[in-house]
Amino acid sequence: MADTPFRLLPRISDDNEHFWTGGADGELRFLRCQSCRWWVHPPSPVCPRCLNRTLLPEAVSGRAVVHTFTVNHQPWYPGLDPPYVVAIVELPEQTGLRLTTNLVGCAPEAVTIGMEVQVVFEHHEDVWLPLFEPVP
Ligand SMILES: [Zn+2]
Repeated sequence: MADTPFRLLPRISDDNEHFWTGGADGELRFLRCQSCRWWVHPPSPVCPRCLNRTLLPEAVSGRAVVHTFTVNHQPWYPGLDPPYVVAIVELPEQTGLRLTTNLVGCAPEAVTIGMEVQVVFEHHEDVWLPLFEPVP
């Protein structure tokens, strides 16, 4: 532990395991209603659109655009050195399908709303954190 950067890791449960471990296969996964094909995030036992209970993990493309972002300048956590970018990205698969994440691989001052980004995974223990970097 001492030689790896500290990260607050999510708690894995049956509801969210597909999301936090998809990176092992290079896939960003969300639950998807098998009746109406709606992507359901955050995870729920029931589709909010058609109330069907058959929801299964499926992979999205991993592309997204920056919906909004903020640059954090406070050193809240050791190992996560400021400044860094906390962003909400929206996936092209469905309007409103959004994820709070960190942007990596670019200077905070280079980030713009609407910027195209793609997922990149950071592996810690049994979790693959989905972060996003600019599309080259
Ligand atoms: Zn549905």
